[in-house]
Order: sequence, then structure tokens, then C-alpha cells
Amino acid sequence: MIQIHDKYFVPFITAEEIDAVIGRMARQVQEDLKGETPIFLGVLNGSFMVVSDFVKKYTHNCEISFVKMSSYTGMSTTNDVKQLIGLNQSLEGRTVVVIEDIVDTGNTIEELKKILEGHNLKQLKIATLFFKPEAYTKDIVLDYIGFEIPDKFIVGYGLDYDELGRNLPEIYQLQQ
Ligand code: 5GP
Repeated sequence: MIQIHDKYFVPFITAEEIDAVIGRMARQVQEDLKGETPIFLGVLNGSFMVVSDFVKKYTHNCEISFVKMSSYTGMSTTNDVKQLIGLNQSLEGRTVVVIEDIVDTGNTIEELKKILEGHNLKQLKIATLFFKPEAYTKDIVLDYIGFEIPDKFIVGYGLDYDELGRNLPEIYQLQQ
């Protein structure tokens, strides 16, 4: 058990299990994208570990880039506009694979997909290491899913609680 601030977290998924699942995902993407040179687009901050481990297992040509979603509150409090920051290359005609650490409600991936659709891609695939089906409210198909997990808060392997815990090599679940 570990403690971050006032919360306790229990071990949930080991580093070995994560490694095996990322290997399986990389092989699957490689098989599906034969003959392509995809751009793997990691969504910061949480995806830095998964992207790093994923691309080491991807043995074909690929490019790697990162973006961050940034929210702006407009004039009206309900007008929440998300922008993509960090994208400094053309994606036109390219095969882009978004790599997410976790998809929860799906709000982030929905916004990101909308933005990327304006870039004239050849194709867009979505990969996520963790997916919470009970919390998901969208009908966007997630092409590659590492682990389906219950709707409970997790930390580790890039995922934080109040910016702490990202460096943990395994996943912990909030004790309730
Ligand atoms: P969404 O609800 O838009 O699918 O997920 C938004 C973001 O919430 C994720 O990218 C992630 O940063 C955060 N998030 C969702 N579930 C968890 C969780 O269980 N643990 C952590 N640390 N962050 C989460």
C-alpha cells in the first residue's frame, strides 16, 4: 500500500503485466499498419511512459510526437474550448495513431478527434492503455485497448494524483 497526501492506494496492475500488454498492442498495431509509416501522437502528460515503452516494441518505421490538450474558458462559463498545443508538423495524408494513457468519460478523446479530423489525415486510430467502460459516455470506437478497468481512480505509470505518482512503474488503485 502507498500513501499520496491523504489517500491510500493498493497495488492493482504490475509492471510485468503492463509490459506484456503493451507488447501485444504494439504487435497488433504493427500488423494492422503494414506498409505505413504512422505518426504516434502521445497525449501529455499521462502518456509519456506508455508511448516510450510502446515505440520500443514497435520495430517498423514510425514517427513520434506529443500534444497537450489545453482548456480555455470563454466568455460564458459553459463555453469550454479545448485546443491542441505542441503540434508542429503537418498531419495531412498521414496515418495517425493517438496514444492515450486512459480513456474515462471520453471527453478528451472526443475533442481531440474533432480537432484532428480538420487536418486531412489518411486515417486515424486510437489506442489507450486503460479504458473505463462504465464511465465512457461516447460512441467513438477505441481501436486498441490495453486493459478494461473498473470505474475507480488509479495512479502510476504516468498517471497522477495531484501531480504525484507518475513515476511509479506499476498501477495502484484508490482504496475505498
Ligand atoms: P476523459 O474523462 O476525458 O476520458 O479523461 C480525462 C483525463 O482524466 C485522462 O486523460 C486522465 O488524465 C484523467 N483520468 C481519468 N481517469 C483517471 C484515473 O483513474 N486516474 C488518473 N490519475 N487520471 C484519470
